[in-house]
Amino acid sequence: SEETYGFIGLGQMGYHMANNLYKNSGKNLVVYDINPKAVSRFIEYNKQQSSNDSLRIEVASSPREVAEKSSFIMTMLPESPHIKEAYLGEKGILSGISPGKICVDSSTIEPTVSLEVTKEVAKASAIGVDGPVSGGVMGAEAGTLTFMVGAPEKSIVERVEPALLSMGKNVVHCGDLGTGLIAKICNNLLLAVTMVGACEALHLGTKLGMDPKLLSSIMNISSGRSWTIDTANPIPGYLPNSPSSKGYEGGFAIKLILKDVGLAMSAAKDTKSSMMASALTEQIYRHVSNYEQYSNKDFSVLYKWLKENK
Ligand code: NAD
Repeated sequence: SEETYGFIGLGQMGYHMANNLYKNSGKNLVVYDINPKAVSRFIEYNKQQSSNDSLRIEVASSPREVAEKSSFIMTMLPESPHIKEAYLGEKGILSGISPGKICVDSSTIEPTVSLEVTKEVAKASAIGVDGPVSGGVMGAEAGTLTFMVGAPEKSIVERVEPALLSMGKNVVHCGDLGTGLIAKICNNLLLAVTMVGACEALHLGTKLGMDPKLLSSIMNISSGRSWTIDTANPIPGYLPNSPSSKGYEGGFAIKLILKDVGLAMSAAKDTKSSMMASALTEQIYRHVSNYEQYSNKDFSVLYKWLKENK
């Protein structure tokens, strides 16, 4: 089809998502990243893939150019300021958008910033929604992400669903604008707290003389079962594919979960919500992230930190 999709932010997640969007949607693609290396990595990979076929990918020089050239625009950037810049900056999406176009931001950012940006998109008679994802880099590569979409109408979700399903396997309409981010932030907060509990319980059991692998197996068939026990278990060698079995590499870095817990804590402040266990959780991750040897490791490295620090 002659339709063109746009993708801004070809990082850890965006690189794979844009690849899947291109491969599975059959549309032309226009991409942009502030880092030229991220762009060339993406272009080189796709050149190799399409030896007989001509490449339907164009590199834009700004978010504005992406917005001018595409009907559907994805953004996958690190934090709130990057989204503000990409949408509202001098050469931002807003300066190139026209009525009827649709933008999905999949970054995990502050819900208030997302609302600010999508309101501006609406003023241009275009549509902007939040659509953060769960599933990590592995899910992005495999195309199995879950999209949590905040949109005022179900019909908007139906419009973006085919494109999102080319990058993921679930699209959930969470409610009005901002609710996708609320779902994402609350999920990751629970994940963060649960990992602290899993590491402390397994550490205690070990200190009391129990085999932590047997203890994990018992938890897996008992009421302590959780994703942090049955999938991302912190004990090296218990699950062959967990980050803990690979030197705590390749999972969800401490400094990234800390960012997401920070978003929850800030939202809690705005709403005067009690967050006592979460506050302590935030402090634990912040403390551990100050050790250079742990800050880039998977968050289950908390177990190793406990073990090494008694
Ligand atoms: P990343 O830092 O690897 O990638 C971000 C990309 O955005 C980089 O290539 C960077 O050069 C580019 N960028 C930064 N500012 C830009 C701008 N103004 N214009 C254009 N490009 C710009 O980050 P990531 O790991 O891909 O994560 C992206 C978002 O997804 C974050 O909000 C993160 O919290 C969320 N997320 C990450 C994971 C994960 O496992 N990594 C999982 C779910 C959600």
